[in-house]
Amino acid sequence: MKNNDSYAEMLQAVQDFHDKHEFEKYVGEDMVYRVALMAEELGEISACVSKGKTIDQLSEECADLLILLLGSAIAAKFDLNEAFWKKMQELSVRSSKMIKGRIRVSGFEESHE
Ligand SMILES: [Mg+2]
Repeated sequence: MKNNDSYAEMLQAVQDFHDKHEFEKYVGEDMVYRVALMAEELGEISACVSKGKTIDQLSEECADLLILLLGSAIAAKFDLNEAFWKKMQELSVRSSKMIKGRIRVSGFEESHE
């Protein structure tokens, strides 16, 4: 039975989508192209927030971006599930700071963020 909470099922659904439209063959997995698509979706998310659109619209645009992120993991051949948990582990031990009235958790002591 399908488990909607499973990363593996989500990744497979995106893989099936790529296969159906032959993304690998027709340059749909080119990372420069994919970055442009992700930027476009981020712009749509931004418009939802800045133009006061509904939560349904916002969630749809976030899903678009998530699908592209999963597709980018397929395209660039990395394990996004593993990267997610590795990063969450790193974040879990970081401290937070208030910067201009907003909380920020970042690698303040590190050279990269
Ligand atoms: Mg969209």
